[in-house]
Amino acid sequence: MGGQASSPVSLEGVHVVVVGGGFGGIAAAQQLKSGGFSFTLIDMRDAFHHNVAALRASVKPGFAQRTFIPYAKTFGDSFVQGQVVRVNMETQSVILEGGKEIKFSHLILCTGTDGNFPGKFNTMASHQTAIQTYEDFVKQVQAADSVLVVGGGSTGVEMAAEIKTEYPEKRVILIHSRIALADPELLHSVRQEAKVVLVEKGVELLLGQKVLNMSELELNVTRKNTVVTTDKGTSLTTDLVISCVGLKVNSAAYASSFSDSLAENGALKVNEHLQVKGHPNVYAVGDCADVNEPKMAYHAGLHAAVAVDNISKSLSGNPLTPYHTGSVTMLLAMGHDDGVGQFNGFKLPRFIVTLGKSRDLLLWKSWREMKQKQP
Ligand SMILES: Cc1cc2nc3c(=O)[nH]c(=O)nc-3n(C[C@H](O)[C@H](O)[C@H](O)COP(=O)(O)OP(=O)(O)OC[C@H]3O[C@@H](n4cnc5c(N)ncnc54)[C@H](O)[C@@H]3O)c2cc1C
Repeated sequence: MGGQASSPVSLEGVHVVVVGGGFGGIAAAQQLKSGGFSFTLIDMRDAFHHNVAALRASVKPGFAQRTFIPYAKTFGDSFVQGQVVRVNMETQSVILEGGKEIKFSHLILCTGTDGNFPGKFNTMASHQTAIQTYEDFVKQVQAADSVLVVGGGSTGVEMAAEIKTEYPEKRVILIHSRIALADPELLHSVRQEAKVVLVEKGVELLLGQKVLNMSELELNVTRKNTVVTTDKGTSLTTDLVISCVGLKVNSAAYASSFSDSLAENGALKVNEHLQVKGHPNVYAVGDCADVNEPKMAYHAGLHAAVAVDNISKSLSGNPLTPYHTGSVTMLLAMGHDDGVGQFNGFKLPRFIVTLGKSRDLLLWKSWREMKQKQP
């Protein structure tokens, strides 16, 4: 990172603002901290959410406390809780809800994506309330004899597997509008194996069908014998409906200031150095960067390293580091006891994914990165 640049770097007058403390934001903040930079990390909540483990927290009592890590303990006064509503490029500052203004010399935007609970937790809630929300949801899952998971992308596949693994006696149905499950970027053989594992576990699959009466359904609350109909004429009853579709880029913080650099989905167009087009001191990292690759925590971490390195290099006048997407590495936890995935484009055996990801969901990595002890 910074220290590796060949010319000495003067950090005088440098203040980096990082907007969003997700996987990209905490990686950037930690690297700025160890590089001796003055920085401010801003998030609307007071704790980092390890949403990769959110689905386990939805089924396993007592687990949610491991999935939220308070920022202030790690970053002290360099963390500010608040919602960024605008970036003012004239004054080089970000504006928080309520009017507070924080100036920057360099800006790293990593506001990520929002989506349906429980895969994502979008609410502005305190650390303890956030944990309690998942604990309350576990009770809803426990109260249901049958669960319908809507959406068979990677999140839906993992959700269905988590429920069936923790509660094998429950009826779990996964409905997906396409025939193939999980992310399209995955190898066909990996997607096929995800299907095999779900069937082995006893998950019922309704593929190539869409729920017709979605708008009438109350999500995440157990309501016995709810009737669900599909566009292929299937009718079923279930006690609990969980939606795992529809991620949306969080562009509210920057959309008005960077309207010329927005992709259609609200992500920021970046050059190969991850600088927002036309703004060399502004970087986009993680899900809100318009990079052609699967949206992953793993990539957000890689982006953060490139952005911080490039801030350092731009200060010392060294050539900037390009970001190149590699072959896809993606691991799907299919409950704590199984998993499918690929490393660098090569399919992995199920037991390797289970050992490497499914047992702990890489929680240890984030607690280590935040230099805190996992409860
Ligand atoms: C259920 C699930 C499982 C997943 N599993 C994996 C996995 O196994 N491996 C993997 O690599 N990826 C996985 N992903 C994808 C991964 O979670 C995302 O790619 C990752 O979270 C992106 O990180 P990020 O830092 O870009 O944004 P996010 O993690 O979305 O964080 C954005 C942060 O910005 C904050 N924020 C947003 N707007 C504002 C604002 N205006 N002001 C202040 N703060 C703001 C939010 O509060 C949030 O903390 C999974 C995703 C889901 C939903």
